[in-house]
This record gives sequence, C-alpha cells and structure tokens, in this order.
Amino acid sequence: MIIVTVANQKGGVGKTTSAINVGTALAATGQRVLLIDLDPQGNASTGLGIGRNERERSSYDLLLGDMTVDDAAIPTRVPNLDIVPATQDLSGAEIELIEFEARTHRLDQAIERGSKRWDVVLIDCPPSLGLLTINAMVASHALLVPLQCEFFALEGLSQLLTTVERIRERFNPGLSILGVVLTMYDRRNRLTDQVSDDVRAVLGRVVFDTVIPRNVRLSEAPSHGVPALIYDHRCAGSQAYIALAREVIGRLPRLAKAA
Ligand code: ADP
Ligand code: MG
Repeated sequence: MIIVTVANQKGGVGKTTSAINVGTALAATGQRVLLIDLDPQGNASTGLGIGRNERERSSYDLLLGDMTVDDAAIPTRVPNLDIVPATQDLSGAEIELIEFEARTHRLDQAIERGSKRWDVVLIDCPPSLGLLTINAMVASHALLVPLQCEFFALEGLSQLLTTVERIRERFNPGLSILGVVLTMYDRRNRLTDQVSDDVRAVLGRVVFDTVIPRNVRLSEAPSHGVPALIYDHRCAGSQAYIALAREVIGRLPRLAKAA
C-alpha cells in the first residue's frame, strides 16, 4: 500500500481536483484507491458526491478518536474508489490535537492499525502546513505537489520543501517527492509558458511531463458530485489527468521498493 499526500499550502492550486481525478484514473486501472479528505472544507468529499448525512464517520475520527481508516472509509460511486470524508469539526482538530502526545502521528497510527487493503491512498490536504498536513506527511511515502502556473508559483515551494525536510529529519526519513504537477496551464497566456520553463529549470525531472490545462469542465464537475473523468472523460482536463495518472503509475514501483 503506497500512501501519497497531495499538498501545497496555497489554496486554489488544484490539490483537490488532482486528488479526485488521479484517484479516479488509478481506480479505473483496477487499483484499489482510498482518498482521505483532510481539508475541513470537505471539497473532495463534496466533489465525489458524499452528502453531509453520509459523513457520520470522518477523518476527524481518525485524528481525534480511535477509528482505523477501515472504520471510516465508505465507497464512492466510482468503482474501486473509497473515501474517508471530512467534516467541519476538522477545523478545530489542529487545536485539539495539541493535547495528544502523538499529535503528529495520529493519522499514521489510524492507517497502520487498519487492514491496508488499498493499493494507493491519496490524502487531500488543507491549504496550510499545520498539524493536519504534517499528519499526512508523517503517514506518507511521498508527496504529489500541484503547482499553479502563475508568476509566484515557486515562491511558496521553498517553505513546503523546508517542511518536508523537517519531517524527514524528525519523523519520516523515507518521505520523498513523487512529483510536481503544473496545473491551470493556459496556452494563450505567454506568462504561463515562462513559469512552466522556470519551474522545470529549477526543479528538473521531479516535474511531471504532463501539464494540466485550465479547463472549465474540471471546475464544473464537482457541482455534479462526480469526478471530471466521469462527468466528461473526453475533455482536455480529463485526458490530462489520465496522462498524469499514467506517469504516477510509472513512478510508484520506486516508492514500493523504498517502502
Ligand atoms: P485546492 O484544493 O488546491 O484548493 P482545487 O482543486 O479545489 O484547489 O481548485 C480550485 C478551484 O479551481 C476549484 O473551483 C476547481 O474546480 C478549479 N480548478 C482546479 N483545477 C482547474 C483547472 N485545471 N482548470 C480550471 N479550473 C480548475
Ligand atoms: Mg482543496
């Protein structure tokens, strides 16, 4: 079982969209996928059509209760894709966690105590580097980092990488970067080309070849409660996520070996 955190402390860069659609594309290849929604806003849960009344058990219970991921996971309407939904009370979890000795390892323990019946676990993080994201990083083998094609794209990245380095030193030496994916690419805008070139020059091969275009179908899908890959699998956004998932699959064996 390979565990991948989708993180970037900036909001609106495509974390949730990437988690949902990479998860769906992996599930379509027959992998058993679990998505853990660790953002109090619950966008991944909503985007996968999980109503408020279906969130009796949630990621809050993994962090603050004694549940295992198996206790809290429910199926989505996407075959092979399960989810641990998020609820509003998760917004208080950062404070409540401070009481716990193992506050950075609560999610890791909830996963470790479970059956490990999934092939891939994706953790969708909130836009911060607080205890929720740290719990995800401690539990994970690797990070998938969506980076929006905008002028300040690289600016927050050093902060993220510093956090990764600290997590490696203190808790999880094996944590690696699965890859950085450029999102919301707009080929009519010359600036995004410049940004994409700069990011590749700085980060090199860790950047996925696949670039996710700005695509309105990707932003429409969540309001229908289905992944873009089901809402309109032919749109440019869905096709890009299929290509990205293929690259992800290509990089997973290296992680499995290290794990
Ligand atoms: P994050 O989880 O990082 O906050 P989201 O995945 O929720 O980011 O994306 C932020 C907003 O942008 C959402 O409304 C989403 O539907 C939209 N969006 C994400 N990726 C794209 C894209 N490639 N093209 C167009 N809209 C997108
Ligand atoms: Mg999100």
